[in-house]
Amino acid sequence: MQKSVIVLGRLSSSQWAELEQHFHVLELTKPLNLTQPEVLAALSQAHGIIGSGLAITPQLLDAAPNLKAIATVSVGYDNIPVDELTQLGIMLCNTPDVLTETTADTGFALIMATARRVVELAEWVKAGKWQTSIGPALFGSDVYGKTLGMVGFGRIGQAVARRGALGFGMQVLYSNASPKPALEKELGAQRRELNELLTEADFVCVTVPLTASTEHLIGADEFALMKPSGILINIARGKVIDENALIHALNNNVIQAAGLDVFAQEPLSTDSPLPQMSNVVALPHIGSATHETRDAMAQRAVDNIRLALQGERPISLVNEEVCR
Ligand code: NAP
Repeated sequence: MQKSVIVLGRLSSSQWAELEQHFHVLELTKPLNLTQPEVLAALSQAHGIIGSGLAITPQLLDAAPNLKAIATVSVGYDNIPVDELTQLGIMLCNTPDVLTETTADTGFALIMATARRVVELAEWVKAGKWQTSIGPALFGSDVYGKTLGMVGFGRIGQAVARRGALGFGMQVLYSNASPKPALEKELGAQRRELNELLTEADFVCVTVPLTASTEHLIGADEFALMKPSGILINIARGKVIDENALIHALNNNVIQAAGLDVFAQEPLSTDSPLPQMSNVVALPHIGSATHETRDAMAQRAVDNIRLALQGERPISLVNEEVCR
């Protein structure tokens, strides 16, 4: 009998066709919850799930007794209980590498936009306020030649650093769980303790995964260490930053500006002051959101689920233990 795969996200027609060659494919569209009979019926048959439109809870796992693999269409998996999946022998696959450069582009777009006040000044022009040449009150800060502090120096952190070092003559500092000697050689990057990096950097760019040890890694004490001209960029996960402390730091000139792609609550609550602040550039979690990259991520998820359910090793497996 054919195995069944639930698809919770967008796939191209060729990706659908590829899946349907091998599996019985069930599409579920949002909003979804476990009280819906069609969701429970699909889960009861499912061997694989692609996408993350349903929270992976004990109730979901109980409802899906045949489940062998979950392919999330993201590199981060902070919202998925990996240990529980491993205990149940369920593979968790993600999509690293294919989104690295695009997410780094988003990080650099935020560096440029915050330093040069691109959004604020474009809005100013749109509002018809450009009546005479601008003065120092509207000047920005240089990016070229400044110090870039990477908090997290994995795939995306290194890709942002390459842009900074090779394109913008920036000195790269990094704080990371392990040293990266190859990148020190390639980019002249220097490893620092987090507190030292915060003190020295002009731009602090966060690319660590959200885990128990990185939640609120940057809070009031850390903002106090940054330069008053310092700019915070977050392209990792919102909860790595203490958002209330960030709002306080931005309102009280503790730091100059912030470029944020991710937030503690997404979509961002309409109560949040962040998008209204002139020294904030807030984006709706678009790190990897280009046509090419989202297509490549969906393809990686399809490949992962196909391999996992055909008894082969998926390309990007988070919980290797399941295959041992
Ligand atoms: P990665 O290659 O695994 O890099 C993460 C880096 O963080 C690794 O170098 C790791 O150190 C380091 N690290 C982990 N925990 C740490 C800690 N407690 N203290 C210091 N360093 C720590 O992952 P990636 O592909 O670069 O992705 C990073 C994160 O970006 C993802 O987890 C995801 O949350 C986020 N992301 C966001 C978007 C978006 O749309 N904005 C898109 C893609 C990814 P080691 O090298 O020693 O392991």
